Amino acid sequence: MPSAIRPPVPNPPAAVIFDFDGVILDSARMKTDAMVDLFGARNGPFEAAVRQTVWQNGGLTRTGSIAVLERGVFGREPTPERVAELAGRYAAMVDDAVKDCPLIDGAPELLRALDGTPCHLVSGTPHRTLLDTVARKGLGGFFVTVTGAPDDGTPNDKSAVFAGLVATHAHRAERTLIVGDSLTELVGARHIGAPFAGVVPPDVPDPFPAGTAIVRDLHGLAALIGVG
Ligand SMILES: [Mg+2]
Repeated sequence: MPSAIRPPVPNPPAAVIFDFDGVILDSARMKTDAMVDLFGARNGPFEAAVRQTVWQNGGLTRTGSIAVLERGVFGREPTPERVAELAGRYAAMVDDAVKDCPLIDGAPELLRALDGTPCHLVSGTPHRTLLDTVARKGLGGFFVTVTGAPDDGTPNDKSAVFAGLVATHAHRAERTLIVGDSLTELVGARHIGAPFAGVVPPDVPDPFPAGTAIVRDLHGLAALIGVG
């Protein structure tokens, strides 16, 4: 964990970069449950380790997450064939189900209140799948850019994506708020010197390092940044 300066949460921010699953869409729990079931780990000795690893690597692509789980939790060398097979099964489990997930409480109100503030969406979900879900949820108009993972399965490094967005759109990093639900986004925010706010479901203990600003839903974020 980089221990660089932590800029305070700007009120209001000049720009906002949102993660998608668990931040805009209430889909993180469903996707983590699917990963647990993909590995047959439900109620078994590896369940907690799978959940923790998914959280720590929340910004990874699905193939990246599967490889990390294979190696880190189950001690198996992830062959490309095994990863591809598991990724296919995972896609079948989540890509339709995600369309039925509700938005995080306060998401529409916050996004409307941020009208005029550039908002970006960055996700580890494959780009086409992400665009499809964003369109189905009627959210496309709220974001200046939407960035998923490359469709060929190569990982997108969130730190690099954040840095690219800030540079391309001439946002001041210290006034650009990064909003995420996993460690990956916090690390990415630190990497570019941007402030961070974590979204933690109301019934879940706060997993972020002490001192991290967190909200329980997006009504809470609207209050934190003074919009709406
Ligand atoms: Mg997430």
